Amino acid sequence: MRLLLQFPEGLKKLALEKAREYEAQGHEVFISSAQCFGACDLAFEEARAVKADKIVHFGHAEFLGAKAAMPIPVEYVEFPIDVSLAPVMRKAIAALNAKKCGKVGLVTTVQHVQQLPSLRSMLEKAGKTVVVGRGTRTKYEGQILGCDTIAAASIAKDVDCILYFGGGLFHPLGVGSEGGSGKPVLVADPFANSVKWLDAKDEEKRKKGLLTRAILAKTFGILVSTKTGQFSLEAARAAKKRLEAKGKRAEILVSNFVDFEALENFQSFDAYINTACPRLRDDYERARKPVLNLADVEELLKLLQ
Ligand code: SF4
Repeated sequence: MRLLLQFPEGLKKLALEKAREYEAQGHEVFISSAQCFGACDLAFEEARAVKADKIVHFGHAEFLGAKAAMPIPVEYVEFPIDVSLAPVMRKAIAALNAKKCGKVGLVTTVQHVQQLPSLRSMLEKAGKTVVVGRGTRTKYEGQILGCDTIAAASIAKDVDCILYFGGGLFHPLGVGSEGGSGKPVLVADPFANSVKWLDAKDEEKRKKGLLTRAILAKTFGILVSTKTGQFSLEAARAAKKRLEAKGKRAEILVSNFVDFEALENFQSFDAYINTACPRLRDDYERARKPVLNLADVEELLKLLQ
């Protein structure tokens, strides 16, 4: 079989070893060298060019709902990471106690879903009631993505706060922002052995600032990514029409990878509407112009009345 192997940035160092393994099984192997940002980001263009029979995509779980748009099969190879739980969970339980959180919603990334039962049992031993929800694009209970925090939002009414277990802020920022839970979010990072409450007010302030600047914009670039799980052309068309009805100029900008530096070369757009990965909005400093997500457009249109 002819295979195209695809790795996210953190796993590219394994590419040579994995390629050897598949070659030893008699496969012809190609490796995608493009950047890969998530389960939504499948290298079909490269696969088509080399006439691959299948993509083997490492490091993410299946992105539910994307199958219909797949021209060739994709095999997801997950990379669970078992980290030491006790040190960071001691800190997390102390922080939950200090905030009097008795009912805790538990979420994590695909790398740690296999550790959810142990996390649950530690919290229960500390007297907490633990609730675990499920997303719509995610494969596992309790799993969140930067674009799917429904596992948190769906249980928000039943809990006092959300505990996110995992590294970095890419995933939990979504829990605290649009489509999120509206509940306090505690981030327990086992790699840094640190816990931190997310400040929802910071995110709210940032969004208000972006909206205030976007109201003054005359021209909007509507960003569409051709990545399989991010492609939202119809939503972009609808946003364009609605902005034009408010007297704004809007054009749809299509690319696989949204590069804010390259967008600056247009020198034409006062603000952007992002229909691709919602976490792109967090790159607002690189964008230099206000970037709003599709979810913010309704609010913008109201303010434009
Ligand atoms: S759209 Fe963004 S958050 Fe969702 S899977 Fe893709 S890269 Fe991750």
